[in-house]
Amino acid sequence: MFQKILIANRGEIALRIQRTCRELGIPTVAVHSTADSEAMHVRLADESVCIGPPSAKDSYLNIPAILSAAEITGADALHPGYGFLSENANFAEMVEAHAMTFIGPSPQHIRMMGDKITAKAAMAALGVPLVPGSDGAVPDIAAARAAAERIGYPVLIKAAAGGGGRGMKVAQRPEDLEDAFSVARTEARTAFGNDAVYLEKYLDRPRHIELQIMADSFGNVVHFGERDCSLQRRHQKLLEEAGSPALTPRARDALGLVATQALTKIGYRNAGTLEFLYQDEQFAFIEMNTRLQVEHPVTEMVCGVDLVREQIRIACGAELGYRQSDIRFTGHAIECRITAEDPTTFVPSPGRVTAFHAPGGLGVRVDSALYAGCVVPPYYDSMVGKLIVHAPTRAEAVARLRRALAEFAISGIQTTIPLHQRIVEDATFQAGDYTIHWLEQFVAAG
Ligand code: ADP
Repeated sequence: MFQKILIANRGEIALRIQRTCRELGIPTVAVHSTADSEAMHVRLADESVCIGPPSAKDSYLNIPAILSAAEITGADALHPGYGFLSENANFAEMVEAHAMTFIGPSPQHIRMMGDKITAKAAMAALGVPLVPGSDGAVPDIAAARAAAERIGYPVLIKAAAGGGGRGMKVAQRPEDLEDAFSVARTEARTAFGNDAVYLEKYLDRPRHIELQIMADSFGNVVHFGERDCSLQRRHQKLLEEAGSPALTPRARDALGLVATQALTKIGYRNAGTLEFLYQDEQFAFIEMNTRLQVEHPVTEMVCGVDLVREQIRIACGAELGYRQSDIRFTGHAIECRITAEDPTTFVPSPGRVTAFHAPGGLGVRVDSALYAGCVVPPYYDSMVGKLIVHAPTRAEAVARLRRALAEFAISGIQTTIPLHQRIVEDATFQAGDYTIHWLEQFVAAG
């Protein structure tokens, strides 16, 4: 087993990874910016190293500083969490070049899936169904027009290097295409330093359903079922469920088979998530994330598995040690992402947390690095915690969620807890009968 793991992240996910390391008896090293010296992930780590000033590019994205921190503390493995450097193939390569283990997939697979155009081509070649779209990148407006005519309007222009819902623009009609194309390109260039874009048919009522995969270095690949992440605002997830209210066990098995066979063929290793749009009982692949996802806890709750533990074991060279038929799904889990934002305008609300009380009781899990007196800095993502509930049925999980949200008290900053409370009371949500477009309308209707 590893001697010491450096966690190249902050906030709730740094704590989440520390918890598993502690259970495995592996000491941890926290890294932090000067804005995070008092943060919980620093307080609870065995060792910590300050890696730079507040700005992420000078600290959590500062590769030389992170590698130096690992070297001086004698860490032999590094967990990247999600966001920051977690899907940076060059970083993964550098970690390995410094004789440390990167707890994640190979740089080759990170690179393949990091570009959505190459990811889609790879999946198509493996027989995974795709959303109809352009055949690769569209270099100019003439190519975009030709592709859109072939696919049929409405179309979505997407950035090859996209993430976090950015670099994505809809063209409802031919006359919208030129503007949408140039805005998407500019956004892609500014956000990702890569202006390659492609086109997809814009689906009018899909659900976002993704599959959690785990693979070892010996060719064993299993899936831990699906998550339904259709509740989104600006293409970003707000609330996730396992399993999907829309999927039968038979449909899950069929999807699982296609996905695990594809990843076996490419020799994928460690955790990964295949994302699909699901409409009219058809799955269509949109992208693959080569890391632990924010929403991984709902899978952990229904499968009774510690996904971080599995990631660490596999990175260490262990075999999975179980088969698909050993994986059982019990009950239903729901996660709410809680952000430090005004719940109606979504304006960020950083600042000092004056009081903090987390809900508890049977089937309630809170993943958060907040504590009374801590400061939510303005420099990073506004997510400050996740509330996860688990119950035997979806209806019971919804009731538990309502109860837990009412117990949750955070003062000093504004949070999206009131928005989640409104969602829980809504009949459409309660029926589980929503698509990716529903939340946007719900929020707009106030
Ligand atoms: P990102 O990497 O930025 O998260 P994704 O490709 O994963 O981008 O898409 C994010 C979300 O955008 C999806 O979950 C879905 O809600 C929406 N979306 C993506 N592609 C389509 C499409 N072809 N039609 C309709 N909605 C889409």
